[in-house]
Amino acid sequence: MQLTGRQYIGKRSSNEGVDLFTAYNPMTGEALECHYGEATAQEIDAAVVLAETAFVKYREINNESRAVFIECIADEIMALGELLIKRAMDETALPQARLEGERGRTVGQLRLFAKVVREGSWVDARIDPAMPDRKPLPRSDIRQMLRPMGPVAVFGASNFPLAFSVAGGDTASAFAAGCTVVIKGHPAHPGTSELVFRAMLNAVEKCAMPDGVVSLVHGVGHQPGMQLVQHPLIQAVGFTGSFRGGNALFDLANARQVPIPVFAEMGSTNPVFILPGALKDRGEKIAEGLAASVTLGVGQFCTNPGLVLVEANAATAFKSVLANEINANAGGTMLTAGIRNAYSGSLDRISKTKDVSVLSEGQPAKSSAGVSAKIFTTSVKALIEYPELAEEVFGPSSIVVEASAKEELIEAARVLEGHLTATIHGTAEDLQDYQELIGILERKVGRIVINGFPTGVEVCHAMVHGGPYPATTNSQSTSVGTNAMKRFARPVCYQDFPDTLLPAALKQNNPLSIWRLVDGEMMR
Ligand code: NAP
Repeated sequence: MQLTGRQYIGKRSSNEGVDLFTAYNPMTGEALECHYGEATAQEIDAAVVLAETAFVKYREINNESRAVFIECIADEIMALGELLIKRAMDETALPQARLEGERGRTVGQLRLFAKVVREGSWVDARIDPAMPDRKPLPRSDIRQMLRPMGPVAVFGASNFPLAFSVAGGDTASAFAAGCTVVIKGHPAHPGTSELVFRAMLNAVEKCAMPDGVVSLVHGVGHQPGMQLVQHPLIQAVGFTGSFRGGNALFDLANARQVPIPVFAEMGSTNPVFILPGALKDRGEKIAEGLAASVTLGVGQFCTNPGLVLVEANAATAFKSVLANEINANAGGTMLTAGIRNAYSGSLDRISKTKDVSVLSEGQPAKSSAGVSAKIFTTSVKALIEYPELAEEVFGPSSIVVEASAKEELIEAARVLEGHLTATIHGTAEDLQDYQELIGILERKVGRIVINGFPTGVEVCHAMVHGGPYPATTNSQSTSVGTNAMKRFARPVCYQDFPDTLLPAALKQNNPLSIWRLVDGEMMR
């Protein structure tokens, strides 16, 4: 399959833009095959208008057909075979096994959403039957369910070229909710984006879905993404990336004449608390696990553990093993030269902060965007005085923050801002002794891990991949797991509707056989 370098307005490809860009191989720094145009204002408008036309039809498509469409996308992605993996390796420097695993995650995620759509109960149907004889006033028949919002803008993420990109979690959850999607591909992997998009087009064709259910636009400047978010027909935004990018889009969406929700998953430092009993019993083992977690995928995960909080008097052996592990690390190649530069800049910033010292540094990878791992140490006092130490460093780095005693460790937890995760390593006694910590962390993060590591986010029904600002722009949602589809739906109430006009999920005889809350009781 030849790459075209074009925008896709539904099924129609277009090439009005003149600002050409190309992807670079982060291993060699060489430009890759195929130039991409930057989407013009007309192309973006055409894609959104078509998405609105398609939405009117797609929202009415029954659960079974929608589920088959989502499953068909998964099949078509698999059918791309080695071509997809090879292009993604060239564009991202991620190893084959990681990309094959990520492809598995992507298609598994699509199939899981399809299953939820087919079952149907996710719409949270609620029925309060009429009470005509109620005194002093009768009650109307009141029914509620979640309905799709409309066209959604999705921004592909650099660090998950498959699972959080063109057919990733945001797109899958929008389709599952009944929304159409206009995707802004990430400029670091335009070829991967195009291949996945064309697989989706095959599914659109095979399943006879409305043209415009999905479109793909490209760009290296901010303009296409900004225009997409400002377009009056776009109803919600899904984003994974930098704090600066997510925040800019959030502000833009709020400044619209009609503001819309932006579900931006941004930076997180994922604090790891290692309590004294655990440090004493298995500090060395925890240090090995932590080094593996910090350097996994060259640290390019939003769940990378960037802050480690310990009580200093119990941490000597732990620090020594951590230093050795990092020292032996061979380094790796980052996704882009820009991300490598941002990583170097962050390390410089931390090195220059007062009361911070280097614990250990790994070997540098010998490639164009190669870096080495680095661990710093500092005190809780410094963390409180220089809160920017808790900002995300995107790469294989972490800061060990030492507390003089339990009270200081708790104080460090209190000053944290919002993060995606927090982790506690502790013995049964530690956990009893530090119960207060869990209460504090519940208000700071979306997921709390006990005696594990934050990297590795399971796609399942109970997952929360979210958290309070600045980790995300919406603390009530998750971008991973089946609850992610609720981001793109909103509750609509139907009062005194005749049965024939009600959506199937709310009809009297429950034709979909879904779980519903009827007069306060769950039933099928
Ligand atoms: P990014 O700069 O936030 O870009 C993500 C997407 O948003 C791109 O499509 C980008 O397109 C667009 N964008 C960014 N700022 C925008 C703005 N002001 N207006 C409109 N569109 C905008 O993220 P990145 O390129 O993936 O990586 C850069 C840095 O982000 C990394 O060094 C890292 O610090 C952070 N990052 C964090 C995570 C995480 O999971 N926490 C993941 C990836 C990256 P254009 O570039 O074409 O404008």
